[in-house]
Formats: sequence, structure tokens, C-alpha cells
Amino acid sequence: KVSSLEPREDHRICVCVRKRPLNQRETTMKDLDIITIPSDNVVLVHESKQKVDLTRYLENQTFCFDHAFDDTASNELVYQFTAQPLVESIFRKGMATCFAYGQTGSGKTHTMGGAFSGRDQDCSKGIYALVAQDVFLLLRTTAYEKLDLKVYGTFFEIYGGKVYDLLNWKKKLQVLEDGNQQIQVVGLQEQEVCSVEDVLNLVELGNSCRTSGQTSVNAHSSRSHAVFQIILKSGGKLHGKFSLVDLAGNERGADTAKANRKRQLEGAEINKSLLALKECIRALGQNKSHTPFRASKLTQVLRDSFIGQNSSTCMIATISPGMASCENTLNTLRYANRVK
Ligand code: ADP
Ligand code: MG
Repeated sequence: KVSSLEPREDHRICVCVRKRPLNQRETTMKDLDIITIPSDNVVLVHESKQKVDLTRYLENQTFCFDHAFDDTASNELVYQFTAQPLVESIFRKGMATCFAYGQTGSGKTHTMGGAFSGRDQDCSKGIYALVAQDVFLLLRTTAYEKLDLKVYGTFFEIYGGKVYDLLNWKKKLQVLEDGNQQIQVVGLQEQEVCSVEDVLNLVELGNSCRTSGQTSVNAHSSRSHAVFQIILKSGGKLHGKFSLVDLAGNERGADTAKANRKRQLEGAEINKSLLALKECIRALGQNKSHTPFRASKLTQVLRDSFIGQNSSTCMIATISPGMASCENTLNTLRYANRVK
């Protein structure tokens, strides 16, 4: 079953898939790797327990994307094909956005570089750091030096339809819309940053704020969207913005019956926002005049990302390789496929 093999013409939306390696637990449990990436834009899902057999290609589920990365791909490689092509647009007054979408544990935070448990190996090389690196490089080129731009970072979380500032002790913030549909997150901290190191310090600070008081890092972070923004300003006015979004886990509560009320409400809110997100990205791709950004807090706050001629978006759908994750993986692939 081939979902869509026609070449993709528009460059405003790029949708990619990244498969992570089997982890220790999956290997110990002898979970099977059911994902093959036979070329740089195709993902095969083998639902049967048979060994991967490419001669039986058409009996598998096949999905096509702009790019597909297998478990050997580095964050740098993924970056080169997703967020990097959008960086320069923010110097030309553009709004760029990069989403990491997928089930909890599939590699969203690893890809973004937001995993700070101490300053471990990979966090400095995720997409946050790589975007920052290129922003500061471009800032010093002759083409953009004369714009006299300043760079700021914001970091906030959306949980249960509410916005919390991760750079200000999780202060709950109001979101207001003025008569011109401009959205403002009132009181959101914008910290000036002058280097990649500064940006990483912000990510680290925000991340410690995000997880403080939580019994487990994933328990909370998987239920909320984390939005990190790099903002360019000229003469105090907004010039361009890159939003990097580590979305809440897209898994449906497998045991909804057992789940408590809080969990059910959380799940409903996440569902609503991910559906709204899909519709907004699709509207952007189809150049629709109407964008249903009010359908969720996430899309409302990211309104600038979906409006205007100079907005571009990339989505990195992260997937787990194991048979045990098959249903979630198929849901992720179907969603990513529908976004474009
Ligand atoms: P998520 O944010 O989607 O819940 P994480 O990014 O926290 O998932 O990833 C879960 C675990 O898998 C982490 O320990 C992470 O380091 C590891 N991991 C994820 N993606 C990769 C990858 N591409 N290569 C190696 N390890 C990975
Ligand atoms: Mg995460």
C-alpha cells in the first residue's frame, strides 16, 4: 500500500521521519525491529513477524516523506535536511518552525537536544544548539550585520491548555489576542543571548524548571508541549522568529479505562492540540486564507508560524523501531503523512 509517491513541490512544509535504534529494554525483551528505511525517503513497516524481506515490499505498509532517516542518522544529518534550510528565512523577516512529533520515548527530546540531566554528551548537539550556531554565524555575515539585530530566547510549556514560562519558575501566563489577531503571551521572559553557550544555558535552565518536583522526567514532559524560540529583533521590534517545538507524546492512553480523570483530560487536550496543529499546517501548505489557529492553545500561541507568505515549517516525526510500538508508529506515520 503506497501512501503517496508523487514528488513534493512546495518547500514551505517539509515532513521527515526519524527511526531510533532498538534500546536496551527492547533488545532484552527480544522485540523485533519492524521498520526499514530502504531509501532516503521511504519508510516500510513490516507488520508480520517474518524477517524483513524486501522482495515482499508491497505486502508491507509503505510511506513516503521528504526524507527518512534510519537509526544511524546523527542529529546533525537530520538538522541539515529539516531545520537548517529554514534558518536564513528568519533574517528575511520569516517565521520558521520545527516540530518534533511522536510517541513518548521515540526520540523527540533527543533530536531537539533538550535532554539535560547534567550536561551529557548529546544535548549540546541537538537542533536547539545547531539552529543557534547557524543564527550566530549568519548574524555576523556582511549581508545581515547591517541590520543590527539582537537575539533573544524564550522557553515555555503548554500543559492542559495553559502556558507556563520555563524561564521564570513556571509562571502561568495569559494569552491575549488583540483586534488584529495578534497573539501575545503576556509577560513571557525574553532573554538576550549572544552565543550558542547562552542558548544552551537557557535550555538547561528551562529544562530544570520543567522537570523540577516531578517524580519522573518523562511522566510530565510527555504530557506537555515545550516551545523554545529564537527571536531576532531590530530596533526593539520583531524581525524574525524560529520556534522549536518538542510536542507532547502522541500515544493514546492504551489503558484509558484504568487511567484516572486527570490523565483522561490531559489526553483529550493533547489530542485536540495535535489535531489543530495538523489542520493549521495543512492550511499553510494549501495557502488557505483561513487558518483554524484558535482551536487550541498550542496553535494559537504559534499563530505567526501558520500565517503569511514567509512562514515555513518542518516536522520530524520520530518513531520507535519495535513491534511493541507498531500501533503508535503507524499512527505517527499516518499523521505525518496527512500533514502535507
Ligand atoms: P521522547 O522525547 O520522544 O519521549 P527521548 O528523546 O527522551 O524520547 O528518547 C528516549 C530515549 O531514547 C532516550 O534515552 C534517548 O537518548 C534515546 N534515543 C532517542 N533517539 C535516539 C537516537 N536516534 N539514537 C540514540 N538514542 C536515542
Ligand atoms: Mg521528551
